[in-house]
Amino acid sequence: MISSIGVIGGGQLGRMIALDAKRMGYHVIALDPQEHSPCGQVADEQIIAHYDDMGAIEKLGASADIVTYEFENIAIASVQYLEQHGFRVTPASDVLRITQDRVLEKRFVGECGIATADFAEVTSAADLELAQHEIGFPAVLKTTRGGYDGKGQWRIESAEQARQALEEARGAHLIYERMIPFERELSVVATRDALDEIVVYPVVENEHDGGILAMTIAPARVDAEIAARAQEIARTIGRRLGIVGTYCVELFLARDGALLVNEIAPRPHNSGHYTIDVTQCSQYEQHVRAICGLPLAQPRLLASAIMMNILGTGTGNQLAGVDTLLRDPAIVIHMYGKRHAVARRKMGHFTMLVDGPITDDAIARARAAHASLRWVNA
Ligand code: ADP
Ligand code: MG
Repeated sequence: MISSIGVIGGGQLGRMIALDAKRMGYHVIALDPQEHSPCGQVADEQIIAHYDDMGAIEKLGASADIVTYEFENIAIASVQYLEQHGFRVTPASDVLRITQDRVLEKRFVGECGIATADFAEVTSAADLELAQHEIGFPAVLKTTRGGYDGKGQWRIESAEQARQALEEARGAHLIYERMIPFERELSVVATRDALDEIVVYPVVENEHDGGILAMTIAPARVDAEIAARAQEIARTIGRRLGIVGTYCVELFLARDGALLVNEIAPRPHNSGHYTIDVTQCSQYEQHVRAICGLPLAQPRLLASAIMMNILGTGTGNQLAGVDTLLRDPAIVIHMYGKRHAVARRKMGHFTMLVDGPITDDAIARARAAHASLRWVNA
């Protein structure tokens, strides 16, 4: 019987896992270097330590019946340590090894018989030249590890830009990817349990701004056939990875209808926040169910939704305009308890519930609502 859950990583995804876990009666222990992290604020206990502090990892393993993580940029050694010392941890280190490295991840997707953008591994100037020759321009050069929210990425349109990016990357391992002129960006959140049961949420549509998710539209405005194909891709990837927990597959829908996998997140995902407000079982509760060996719930979408992220702007730490935002009774706000609204930092989000299909009007209403918010000094 599991009664306590350890979470490595103190961010908003951990916070939302903890909130659902606590509603379900679990004791939650958060591990993060920062005191009162978004997850630490709502957990029963906090361990203040770095993700690769093995003494702290040992303590987390010893105090929790099962450990999970909310962020893939943690040291794989921490997950291996738990596995090797008889503690329960999920997803397994093999899943983390693949999903924290963009090259291994794309190779894995290819081995599953699923398409990705053409790519080449780059560890030297010679590799980069070959990649440019084979893949051409425009392209995206990314660090293979550690990137998120568009960090560690360079848009490449010429050999000169490629040369500059390589310099800025300071020896980091890189991946050179063809830039896909996508019709839409889609994602699919799913959860797999240890018995190979998989539940898949509706396919959603994502709009990014400078590599950071800005808006999610649920369900995606795509043909049923495309949605079914995207969900099947998510099932195949979950099964082949053998992941236990909630995960997400990000995809590009090309103009010719092809679906290309962009990346896999071995954890709940920003584009699945809407599941809190418009499904009977959120991606976070589903994760808790999977790791605790409880039955998964076939997701029921109770309304359509538009989710918009609320990012910091660096102009103050007080969010003004929430009173205006909440005049719309279809809007639910979620703030993460972060003190400093640094530019482009994810501070919170809101979900707008929509009856029936998503219309352009509904999207315009969400954008207008978002425009009523601004960061000011207290
Ligand atoms: P992150 O880990 O930062 O989310 P992604 O690889 O998902 O990294 O890149 C962030 C965003 O940048 C994507 O959602 C997409 O909008 C854009 N992008 C990344 N790679 C490509 C590509 N090969 N073609 C077109 N757009 C891309
Ligand atoms: Mg991404």
